[in-house]
Amino acid sequence: STPAVMLSAMAAAARAGVLFKSSAALDTLAQVGTIAFDKTGTLTQAKMTLTRLVADDEAQALALAAGLEAHSEHPIAQAIVTAARERGITPIAVRDAQAIPGHGIEAFPVGGEGERAWAGNLRLMERQGASLLPAQAAALQELSAQGSSAVVLGVGSRVLAVMGVADALRPGIAQAVAGLRAAGIAHLVMLTGDHEAVAQAVAREVGLTEYRAGLLPEDKLRLIGELPGLVAMVGDGVNDAPALARADLGVAVASGTDVAIESADVVLMQNDLGKLAGAVRLARDANRTVR
Ligand code: ADP
Ligand code: MG
Repeated sequence: STPAVMLSAMAAAARAGVLFKSSAALDTLAQVGTIAFDKTGTLTQAKMTLTRLVADDEAQALALAAGLEAHSEHPIAQAIVTAARERGITPIAVRDAQAIPGHGIEAFPVGGEGERAWAGNLRLMERQGASLLPAQAAALQELSAQGSSAVVLGVGSRVLAVMGVADALRPGIAQAVAGLRAAGIAHLVMLTGDHEAVAQAVAREVGLTEYRAGLLPEDKLRLIGELPGLVAMVGDGVNDAPALARADLGVAVASGTDVAIESADVVLMQNDLGKLAGAVRLARDANRTVR
């Protein structure tokens, strides 16, 4: 049976908004040597906004992009759908929409000429055999330099638009990371599917010296197996569920998707990563008392 000291530590953590699903999770957190963080929705708020739209026909491009993204759960999709709504633009209906993890989304416009439309990152663009025109490449370069994520929209092998989306950091996230470092966690690392420039900008702002960018969901899984010591993974999204399950300790932010919360061993009820350092201390104290 679970020692009383563990139960009371779990109760204390729960009062602080850190929900442990088992006493084994508390025991693991006490010994964690690496914490890996997802970027979008975990370090950031995932309240993205469309900040840039480069297209010959902006209304047409946004209508198509919103039609595609209406079928995606990614935070980027929300930004594009919202931008269209705010401008009074009706999304173009699409069929057979397919989300491609780590890439974006593809579908066929209803009443179109049978060519596939797509919205996503450069990796997705390359999959379509498409390439950027010089003006589009320049826009992309500019967005990267600002640390904004770029979304490329196309039909078949033609690129129709380059869009920029920006995300805000979660309030207090830099202090949360500093708190975990002060608690003596040896490795704090960000894992992201986003590109290098965005990853670098976010890592610098939150005070993480270690990060890996351009990762596919399967890369995240592999890396979790390779990181040193007992590994905790903090995430929020549908894409994060396998990584949360693979890690020695899965930590979900409550604002995330149900599947992430279900896959996790620990849930941050107030979405506050700042509470994690306190939970580490509680877990270690309980552990010391038991042993
Ligand atoms: P992360 O949470 O670290 O951004 P994801 O695996 O969720 O990782 O996404 C990786 C990348 O794939 C995103 O940064 C984005 O470039 C692209 N992407 C995924 N889904 C979409 C989408 N619906 N629309 C546009 N881009 C997308
Ligand atoms: Mg995420």
